[in-house]
Amino acid sequence: MLKSAREIEAMRRSGRVTAAVLTHLMQSVRPGRTTGELDRLAEQGILAAGGVPTFKGYNGFPGSICSSVNNEVVHGIPGSRALREGDLLSIDIGTTLDGYVSDSAVTVPVGKISRNAQRLLDVTHECLAIGIAQMQRGKRLGDIGAAVQRHAESHGYGVVRELVGHGVGRAMHEEPQVPNYGDAGTGIELRTGLVLAVEPMITEGSRRVRMRRDGWTVVTADGKLAAHFEHTIAVTENGPQILTLRDYAEHPEIERYRHANEVMA
Ligand code: MG
Ligand code: MG
Repeated sequence: MLKSAREIEAMRRSGRVTAAVLTHLMQSVRPGRTTGELDRLAEQGILAAGGVPTFKGYNGFPGSICSSVNNEVVHGIPGSRALREGDLLSIDIGTTLDGYVSDSAVTVPVGKISRNAQRLLDVTHECLAIGIAQMQRGKRLGDIGAAVQRHAESHGYGVVRELVGHGVGRAMHEEPQVPNYGDAGTGIELRTGLVLAVEPMITEGSRRVRMRRDGWTVVTADGKLAAHFEHTIAVTENGPQILTLRDYAEHPEIERYRHANEVMA
């Protein structure tokens, strides 16, 4: 499961496509836009860059993105739902380029959102940054989950157990699983060449989730909000390298995330 420097470069090229398309989607989010429109933008963007939307057809999934709104945690199916002012939208996207997968997600506000919702976004994004910071060679897999869990729970939030991060490479889901909870100092040793998708899924209330009848959409059991952020990251000699890093310089509406992003870089 360890990747060579050459493979990591190939994954970085895939990650650049994912990052660029996701940035475009973030800029396109506004009240009235449907999740299906965002899905079409994603597919067009990935194909135009020479990639293939990894999600489309994965176990029969119909979209190129997962779009999960408010109490939907992950795996929402894009369609005719129109976004409304105050919604929280998680966009999850994967690109396969030259045989290598990159996987990334963000949760963004639709128009103006409540202070509580903003706090959930901020803390979940911090959870991702804190988890990534653990990805130093010699550390253990459990260090990532322990750090994420400690930060989320210190704010009174729940950490979803049923879904986890994962290794990524030629396939979207490789070993090992990367839980967002657990005990520091446990699990496999993180070695140079390990590439993981770290993706905290954090709930405002209870961490319990259930599956909708569509067989895909995971929602909070109590109907409260959830947020989800994800990057594809390589463990290198020089620490973690985010292969799906976005360039925020020209995007003032997402400038607020810049600081956390620099922490991650
Ligand atoms: Mg993903
Ligand atoms: Mg993933």
